[in-house]
Amino acid sequence: MDAKLLQSRLLELIRRTSCELPPDVKRAVDKGWRKEKAGTTAKYAFSVIRDNVVLANDKSQPICQDTGTIICYVDRPLWITETDFRKAFETAVVQATKVGYLRQNSVDSITGKNSGTNLGPGSPTIHFHETKAKAMTVRMMLKGGGCENVGTQYALPNTELGAGRDLEGVRRCVLDAVHKAQGKGCGPGVLGVCIGGDRASGYAASKEEFFRTLDDKNPDPTLARLEKRLVKEANSLGVGPMGFGGETTVMGIKMTHRNRVPASFYVSVSYMCWAFRRDGCKISESGKVTSWLYS
Ligand code: SF4
Repeated sequence: MDAKLLQSRLLELIRRTSCELPPDVKRAVDKGWRKEKAGTTAKYAFSVIRDNVVLANDKSQPICQDTGTIICYVDRPLWITETDFRKAFETAVVQATKVGYLRQNSVDSITGKNSGTNLGPGSPTIHFHETKAKAMTVRMMLKGGGCENVGTQYALPNTELGAGRDLEGVRRCVLDAVHKAQGKGCGPGVLGVCIGGDRASGYAASKEEFFRTLDDKNPDPTLARLEKRLVKEANSLGVGPMGFGGETTVMGIKMTHRNRVPASFYVSVSYMCWAFRRDGCKISESGKVTSWLYS
């Protein structure tokens, strides 16, 4: 595929991800707004969020000043190499930064210097998976820093929480994470949870849950029941948007699991803020965007 054509497709993907909230998240924000009582700070917070979403969409400007970590997943057919994709995506990131779809947000962890381009070691992060499909699938998210700060990982058993190595222990961890966040990380949030795995794979899997839509149903009936119960329980804590109190503390909880070794039992919780930026598309070998994944 022509490199310039691919870059332009990826630039549009970045623009949409940064400036347009996905439809399922918009619906969840609207639902939260409807539930809060008139005249409350929670209602006001939701109103500001809704106005912000409309403005960003209309002006093609970032939904939030915090670009967040740029994370990309690629299902790669054999007609494109990892090297060519990375080059095109990095070029698109630099362009997106230049035109203001992304704020200059990537800082060298040793020197503290901002690269000014959003490029640097680990930025952007790209995960490749080979596919036999004809079209390439590209999914991306912008993962805010404030909400990343309230993500957490538990090693069970945890005596402080009275949490054992079972689903009841997992439930206690998730509610503890929501309670400790207290609306920080720009709630109402969405939690991605992985039961098991090691520390690295658990966190990675918990973040991949953010590619699910908020209104889907977990194919695992046990996890589907637990997700539903936890959303209800988290929203009964009264933390509310931004911690102002209210009915909506979380807009969704998405869970998955990975095998673990007998010696460890991790529960990894990633937290996504209301500025839940993700999008994705399928691109044919000729460079045509054949579909958008979330609209
Ligand atoms: S946590 Fe989310 S909403 Fe808050 S500043 Fe970061 S990206 Fe923006």
